[in-house]
Amino acid sequence: MLKYGIWLLTVGCWLLASCGEEPTANSQEPIVYSSPVDYDIVLAGNFGEPRPNHFHGGIDVKTDNVEGKQIFSIANGFVSRITVNMYGFGNAIYVSHPDGNTSVYCHLKCFAEPYEQLLTRTGRDTLDLHFDAGQLPVNGGDLIALSGNTGHSTGPHLHLEIHDTETWVMRDPLEFLGPYVADTVAPQAHSFMAVPMQGEGVFNSGQTKQTFSFGQSDRKVQSSRIQLQREFTAWGRVGFALWADDYCESTYNHYGVRYTQLLVDGREVFSSNVDGIPISTTREVNDWGDYDHWRHNHTWYLKSYREPGMRLPILHTGFSQGIITFNEERDYHLTYILRDYQNNQSIYDFTVRGVRDSRVRICRHDLLLNPYQLYDQCLWPLYSHCYP
Ligand SMILES: [Zn+2]
Repeated sequence: MLKYGIWLLTVGCWLLASCGEEPTANSQEPIVYSSPVDYDIVLAGNFGEPRPNHFHGGIDVKTDNVEGKQIFSIANGFVSRITVNMYGFGNAIYVSHPDGNTSVYCHLKCFAEPYEQLLTRTGRDTLDLHFDAGQLPVNGGDLIALSGNTGHSTGPHLHLEIHDTETWVMRDPLEFLGPYVADTVAPQAHSFMAVPMQGEGVFNSGQTKQTFSFGQSDRKVQSSRIQLQREFTAWGRVGFALWADDYCESTYNHYGVRYTQLLVDGREVFSSNVDGIPISTTREVNDWGDYDHWRHNHTWYLKSYREPGMRLPILHTGFSQGIITFNEERDYHLTYILRDYQNNQSIYDFTVRGVRDSRVRICRHDLLLNPYQLYDQCLWPLYSHCYP
């Protein structure tokens, strides 16, 4: 009996001990991130900027317009991949970190000694080497490469991406490197676009999309609130889109806006938070943005509503998909709130008066039970449930 008890105790201790050890082996530990360069970071581009067919997948760190700046690993981990290519990322090095993220350093001139020796270069190379954990461990702050201008790059800079190692979802590097990037300047909106839904809405008596300027504003301010004096009219279903840029104090560059929110009478109808973009959705930038407008004007109006079929997880809308129904003859107060990663903020208010228009028939969306019906009935209206 005693023997049996001791055996139980022993097994129990072993179980306890192994339970205690198990989590540290596989769990994703929080780790400390540091700057990839040894001077103040100034960005030439930020994460998620809309570009034709894709979102900018990382940050562009300025390198003083020269090659050869020392590039350091931003955290502990191991070198998991090295690529050499005339296109794309050019010379690139990947570091996998124990918190489940991988940092990718691109357009490099060359790699630091221990890595450069692993490559047998013959000239016009395309190399893609993968390494296991334990082969090439690095510490945060270790020199891993020199910056360059290789691959698809229009000038010397460091393009740095951070991905979820498992899913390869693209993260905003400022989530990790925010403290190293000075920014006390709020994003600014230039103008908005009103997009009446075809046959279902009018804006300022027009049935096609129209743009309206917010006027020239002070660019380099930390926060601002602008009220448009002009009054607009609308009836039926209207979507909105916004042309806006973010800025920082130390350069003329402009960036994408991290957070955008559209409120109607104080209630959110749309918001976007540009972090965590699955690679498989990157082409949806052409649907979120008004691609046709970009082709003609090279400015991106980003919609504050969701087109049918869009999966982009950075957009948040309710039941109405962000489209506003003006169906009461009263003032609607619309507010755009723009924020950057450092919480600099600008606010734009404008008023839209609901004015009945006989060209538009409004569906009583509130009578419908589910959004699939809503979508069907608004594209192919049955009108039995509509009033003039
Ligand atoms: Zn870039």
